[in-house]
Amino acid sequence: MAVPEEFGGGGVDDFRYNVVLTEETTRGGYSGVGFMLHNDVVAPYLLNLADEEQKKRWLPGFCSGEIITAIAMTEPGTGSDLQGIKTRAVRDGDDWVLNGSKTFITNGINADLVIVVACTDPEKGAQGFSLLVVERGMPGFERGRNLDKIGLDAQDTAELSFDDVRVPAANMLGEEGLGFIYLMQNLPQERLSIAVVAAAAMEQVLEDTIQYCRDRKAFGKPIGRFQNSRFELAELSTEALLARVFVDKCVELLNVGALTVQELRWPSTGLLTSRSSSSTAASSCTAVTATCVNTRLRRRTSILGSRRSTAARTRS
Ligand SMILES: Cc1cc2nc3c(=O)[nH]c(=O)nc-3n(C[C@H](O)[C@H](O)[C@H](O)COP(=O)(O)OP(=O)(O)OC[C@H]3O[C@@H](n4cnc5c(N)ncnc54)[C@H](O)[C@@H]3O)c2cc1C
Repeated sequence: MAVPEEFGGGGVDDFRYNVVLTEETTRGGYSGVGFMLHNDVVAPYLLNLADEEQKKRWLPGFCSGEIITAIAMTEPGTGSDLQGIKTRAVRDGDDWVLNGSKTFITNGINADLVIVVACTDPEKGAQGFSLLVVERGMPGFERGRNLDKIGLDAQDTAELSFDDVRVPAANMLGEEGLGFIYLMQNLPQERLSIAVVAAAAMEQVLEDTIQYCRDRKAFGKPIGRFQNSRFELAELSTEALLARVFVDKCVELLNVGALTVQELRWPSTGLLTSRSSSSTAASSCTAVTATCVNTRLRRRTSILGSRRSTAARTRS
């Protein structure tokens, strides 16, 4: 959405457009490829850090879908504590020679272009991180296993390895040594993007569950008439509504540049943190569990589009 029209994008720098897209694909159950990762997470890196030559090279394919992207931060031994990454890049003439491995990388198998977080100056710790763009076919760049997950089956999450990959210096994104700062700058939108999916998934799963409770009869009446079913559904509806209000508020703040890393503090502001993002995801899981237990998870296609989220209705 945010990529300028000259490169084939929508030319609209308004995250609410991304949100509408995410809500609709989530409600439809379209989890692959990692659209959200491509649109919400990688796009800001290319838009804000790529120079003109890189933009001309990558953005048209990025918008048309010919280039699928990924970002590789996590490593087998390093997740939350990103400062501990071991992937290294050493300058050799016009290239950086990259060595290391990554894991849990969304779009890892399908990606044509991977933004790799690498240490280019081990002496400086996190201040020595840089972002290198590795492209499909570069010798020494290999994909490992496509990891098994409990959900998002259409989305590949993979291991990647880099063995003396020669990455041209022209593929460095932004400035050398500022990689960690770039990662922190993009964190609010990345976390929010996950919460947007979780909130939309909750609403859809709840809708499926309510429909099932209307259709399924036991002891002569729909199971939704039983008191316990009503308690459960009321609780889930409340959680879904809370998540919706919370996520919409965060989207509003992000759009005016007020959702920064500094503000991602819990509980002083009550805004989006990894904790609240995961609690939204956890609520989504509760709803999913309820659906799995109470229904046989029939195809939801028939009721698709029958209801829009509160946010979408408000916006329209
Ligand atoms: C579906 C999926 C897609 C992903 N896609 C990508 C991707 O595209 N690119 C990418 O780079 N990564 C990706 N990841 C990886 C993800 O970013 C990591 O899983 C995440 O950073 C956590 O790291 P970890 O799994 O190593 O957990 P760990 O860091 O080992 O943490 C394990 C547990 O310890 C807790 N913990 C850790 N540190 C602390 C602390 N200081 N205090 C209290 N508790 C703590 C954590 O909360 C967690 O519960 C993906 C993961 C999944 C599951």
